Amino acid sequence: MTGTFNLPPVVRTVADLRKQVAAWKREGLKVGLVPTMGALHNGHLELVRSVLKTADRVIASVFVNPIQFGPNEDLDAYPRMEAQDREKLASVGAHLLYVPTVSEMYPNGFASKVDVSGVSEGLCGGSRPGHFSGVATVVTKFLLQAAPDVAAFGEKDYQQLQVIKRLVQDLDIPVEIKGVPIVREEDGLALSSRNGYLSTEQRGIAPALYKVLQSTSTAIAQGTPVSDALAAGEQDLLNAGFDAVDYLELRCASSLVPMEAFDRPSCILVAARLGTTRLIDNLTFAP
Ligand code: AMP
Repeated sequence: MTGTFNLPPVVRTVADLRKQVAAWKREGLKVGLVPTMGALHNGHLELVRSVLKTADRVIASVFVNPIQFGPNEDLDAYPRMEAQDREKLASVGAHLLYVPTVSEMYPNGFASKVDVSGVSEGLCGGSRPGHFSGVATVVTKFLLQAAPDVAAFGEKDYQQLQVIKRLVQDLDIPVEIKGVPIVREEDGLALSSRNGYLSTEQRGIAPALYKVLQSTSTAIAQGTPVSDALAAGEQDLLNAGFDAVDYLELRCASSLVPMEAFDRPSCILVAARLGTTRLIDNLTFAP
């Protein structure tokens, strides 16, 4: 990336993060937080832009959170590229990069976890046991460490966003949670750090995920019984070349309870696999 942006300073400890946030708050500045796992793309940068609309200072965190990965998942392979991430954050005007180590976040003796029942169940909570407990725990820690006024999360991880809204409400954490719409490639594929795992052939198949969400939502909106539309959508994904469908479901857009009839604002959520790469996407729509 070219340009003459100021690289944001990097802090790696809770103490240094708190020192900076306290200084900003003494000046009366509004602080925003954008938690990420790095390998940043335009979807992440959109979160920063969105927070900058209401906050004076934006912290981006980059932390590949080990406790949200299952034993056979891609923790070790997950891309790590701090220097490039820092340049990208500079290009959109982020003010601070927080990159804690695993031992800073989970020192010896760490024994607590945050579990959010209800919204964490099924969907990715079903196919990735323990995932949302890992997410809820790390996000709670980030919110307590940075004490931001606002924090942004992508609708790309729709279930995660509902889990975070729930825990902030339940635990009385004084922060505004901002959901940011999904940023997509021109062919409809939702931007994801995991898209980089795809072969050329798999990359050609991947946009079918969004196309099937669109065709399934259209069928449901036109009156096709929900279970028939979902079964057809799943078959379309396999026909398009996906190797497996973890789930394709219609849920209530706010509570995420399963829906058999399309009678309120809804979200179709999908997770499907191309080889060893698992992609997720979703689409909200209303009667
Ligand atoms: P990750 O680094 O994958 O954990 O994502 C960090 C944040 O960026 C999460 O809140 C994601 O929902 C969000 N995000 C990832 N991809 C996108 C996208 N394509 N559009 C909008 N937000 C995204």
